[in-house]
Amino acid sequence: MTGSSQAARRGRVVVVGSANVDLVVDVPRHPGGGETILGGDLRRSPGGKGANQAVAAARAGGADTSFVGALGRDESGELLLASLDRAGVRTDLVERVEAPTGTALITVSPDGENAIVVAPGANSHVRIGAAQADRLAAADVVLAQLEIPLDVVLAAAAARRPGAVLALNAAPSRDLPDEMWAALDLLVVNEHEALDLAGGPADPAGTASPDPVERLAAVLLERVPAVVVTLGGAGCLVAQRGAAPVRVPAPRVDAVDTTGAGDTFCGVLAAALAGGSTLVDAARTASFAGALAVTRPGAQDAVPTADEVTTFAHPEQLP
Ligand code: ATP
Repeated sequence: MTGSSQAARRGRVVVVGSANVDLVVDVPRHPGGGETILGGDLRRSPGGKGANQAVAAARAGGADTSFVGALGRDESGELLLASLDRAGVRTDLVERVEAPTGTALITVSPDGENAIVVAPGANSHVRIGAAQADRLAAADVVLAQLEIPLDVVLAAAAARRPGAVLALNAAPSRDLPDEMWAALDLLVVNEHEALDLAGGPADPAGTASPDPVERLAAVLLERVPAVVVTLGGAGCLVAQRGAAPVRVPAPRVDAVDTTGAGDTFCGVLAAALAGGSTLVDAARTASFAGALAVTRPGAQDAVPTADEVTTFAHPEQLP
């Protein structure tokens, strides 16, 4: 990740994670306990951090992407498979299990604030069998999140080949065991997740930076060789052991729906790394892709194509 080559080839990414159907209703306000309110029309769209990131790695990042996940034998499972297939993700390792497809119940208030309940369903049954392990052993980058059991993420980490990058988007945030930290090459988190993992605002000895995000990253670098902290419209911070932290700006866009920006960023970052980009160059490309995603509604439906990212990714778009 620290070399200077530009992305030159189509790398291999394996995304291990969740797939959910998002059931979304606009509401005048979120209901309180015991309360019933009327909302707008129900929207049903493919989501889940793992599936979103796989779609992003394939469609926006152009990587040879496999998804390791589990779906129910239901209509929601078909919806997700169709979305992954449309994006060009390899779905031969997705297992159909005797549990309902994961479902996210999402209410959105007029100020754009989401309230979300996830029923994991099939996502609790993701597993690393022999076929999944073989694919993982051939990957350049393995990308995981925390919407599936941690044991599965650890099994995926163990199956990768020496030299392959294990990237974890630690969302939703939770404590990580030492074994997980030891396996990680790259952590991608937003500021809230960074705060959680660092155990609160940071002021580590030897870090003179006045920037609170840089201080947080410095704490995380004690446990993982590289960290990217995403900062919404403010871009991201790339921090690597032994190098000065780098701020990567995000282009200015008219935000319509920020759902899936983080997932688009992670998928494209993984694809660019798998193609041979440095971490800073990969973050620059991912930042343009994440910005394009917020200009469109939905999660997987908002992921841009690789051509759209290339056309948009010019320095004059930056603030
Ligand atoms: P979410 O959970 O909403 O998908 P997140 O909190 O994981 O997102 P963000 O930091 O919001 O992740 O977004 C990821 C990246 O997407 C940012 O680093 C940035 O490059 C891009 N991005 C997000 N929001 C905007 C915005 N309003 N304008 C431009 N770029 C944005």
